[in-house]
Amino acid sequence: MFFKVAFDTGRIKNFDLPKPPSEPFVGFRVIVEEEGNTGIITDIATEGKKVISTYPDKHPLILPHHISALKELSRFYRVPFTTLLFQLIPSSFIRCKEKIIFPKIKEGLDKKTREVISYIEKRKDYTYEKAVRRYGKGLIDSLIQKGVLGLREEWITREEEERVFSLGTDLKNALSSIKKPEIKRILLKIRGEGKVREEDLIKEGLSRRHINSLLKKGIIVTVKELSEEETDVKPEKKPVRKAKGENYLIWGHFDSVWEYIRAKHEETEGSTLVLSTSKSHLLKIEEEGIPVIRGDLKEKLLKDRWFLAHRGNTLVGGSFPASLLPLEDLNNLIILDDHLPSVKHFKEPHIDIRNLAFLVAKELGSGFSIGSPAPSLESYYLRERGVFKRDISLLKRIRTEVIKRHFNEILTRESINILNEKDATKLIISHKRGYSYMYCEKCQFIAQCPNCGTFLTFFRSKSYTVCTKCRFTEVENRCPDCGHSLRELGIGIEKVMEVIEKRWGIREDIFFDTNAPWSSQFDYVIVVNGENILSVPDYRADEQFYYFLWRCLTTAKKGVIIQSIIDNHPAIESIEKKDPFLFLKRELERRREENLPPFTRMINVKVKGTEEVKLLRDFLKDSSADVKSLRVPEGVRVTIRVNRYHTDLIRNILDFLRKDFRKFASEITVD
Ligand SMILES: [Zn+2]
Ligand SMILES: [Zn+2]
Repeated sequence: MFFKVAFDTGRIKNFDLPKPPSEPFVGFRVIVEEEGNTGIITDIATEGKKVISTYPDKHPLILPHHISALKELSRFYRVPFTTLLFQLIPSSFIRCKEKIIFPKIKEGLDKKTREVISYIEKRKDYTYEKAVRRYGKGLIDSLIQKGVLGLREEWITREEEERVFSLGTDLKNALSSIKKPEIKRILLKIRGEGKVREEDLIKEGLSRRHINSLLKKGIIVTVKELSEEETDVKPEKKPVRKAKGENYLIWGHFDSVWEYIRAKHEETEGSTLVLSTSKSHLLKIEEEGIPVIRGDLKEKLLKDRWFLAHRGNTLVGGSFPASLLPLEDLNNLIILDDHLPSVKHFKEPHIDIRNLAFLVAKELGSGFSIGSPAPSLESYYLRERGVFKRDISLLKRIRTEVIKRHFNEILTRESINILNEKDATKLIISHKRGYSYMYCEKCQFIAQCPNCGTFLTFFRSKSYTVCTKCRFTEVENRCPDCGHSLRELGIGIEKVMEVIEKRWGIREDIFFDTNAPWSSQFDYVIVVNGENILSVPDYRADEQFYYFLWRCLTTAKKGVIIQSIIDNHPAIESIEKKDPFLFLKRELERRREENLPPFTRMINVKVKGTEEVKLLRDFLKDSSADVKSLRVPEGVRVTIRVNRYHTDLIRNILDFLRKDFRKFASEITVD
């Protein structure tokens, strides 16, 4: 049969291949000998070259639905769908043939050559390319020519696999067959720990050659990865039925949201997929015995878990590559905490993963839901447009107090009372990192970063002033504008810690952070200050303040105290009334009036300098796009605002940025 096969090089080739082991054929992995690479079947073709190939799997890795979703997404972002596909597929699924370099001669060499040899020897499957990158093509090629180094071709995964060892014979036997005391010591260590990683053995001073010789003698043996459990995967194909999942917005603490999702999965037919970009969410899910697709899983375990999807009726969690899991009976796809920046701008080319998840759910006829501390503005916008049909609030009844704080006050009386309470955990939040801002009495202004304009932060622990955005450092704590010495102003978390520890000492029941961690819980959360979020010149500042407060609210078990120097902010009001829509409704209205996302599209791009900004402005001069630029470290950030319905213009701009302008443009995002 003829197929189109996509490779991670970006190429799509037509081949004449044997029939894949099962249907659907589209989505199968195929190892193509001539290409020295593993590809994915993306379509049926009408002709193709006959090649030697093998199918490593019994079932397709992804479904035709995923390819359709990726194609639609690629039309929106103007990037080839193969780029998106291989950004998402875990790299350990892609095996390729690589040139491996190995030492042939070890005696009578000069110092430099000995250094190269010893470096290569310590590494497993060290590729020719890596060696050239490290030592230069000239040196490596000449060592190959002299016969010092050899080359061989081998199939390897893009990520190196790690070996784990245990003793292969009893200790007495092992020790008697070894002479060198340092190796004896290492054997004792292996015996003591049961299983040891290859990396640790090398750190102990064992070379790869020693390890291989111990293996050959049977003194040590390779064992399964430490955390690896045996999963017996026997996928049984179930008839595909039309899923009836609904689209809902759910908010509350992580535990309540997760509990709801679990219960919902039990009572409905079909599979449930929970996506999150946070490792702590995924580990919590995994602790309950739910299979989770994580980027750091070893190949075998990853493969076992991935193909569980073919069983049907599965509850599975994962980071974003899991959005390509072959779950034919997907009933609901849920994204957790969609406010995290990694959700909106996933890897290069910075796709909003919610778009992909939404398209995948649509293709599979599945429900699409979002679980978070509070609905995001984008979610609310989609709710208004009828995408989300149900609201599920899982807020607990807790004490909520908003207390007016005076400018120089750190702890109000209410907060002090809570801190005095015994047998309760307290989380203290100040959204400001470091000790404080810095003020110049001569300029009468808060010191700003000369590179990017951000307010500078003083870190007492390091005793210098830094820009937290671009890392500009002022060691002598002098004003970057006039050189006058600076003084502290405002409250950072370090200052809060200092004040609390002075009064209560270092205590086990008091915790500090700059943001509430949604997946943990504390009896009380005290927000010392958070209004500095509002001083950032960003149209999303209000929304970020709202989300910051809602994270604090949902992290508290008994009560939350919000100290604030401002009154009457809709975000604070929404906390007092425990109604997120109170804020979202007003904010969406403002965005509409001011012509901001989601009512317009904002294309952000970083260019090298003002010359490039001029070129970009020239390109856009007869269009309806609105262009703004701002100096940032090593370049200029340009924001292009376009009416969201002018899709042709958006496409033209993105094509221009990604093709003709490619050399000058980086960090292209679309809001
Ligand atoms: Zn100054
Ligand atoms: Zn800066």
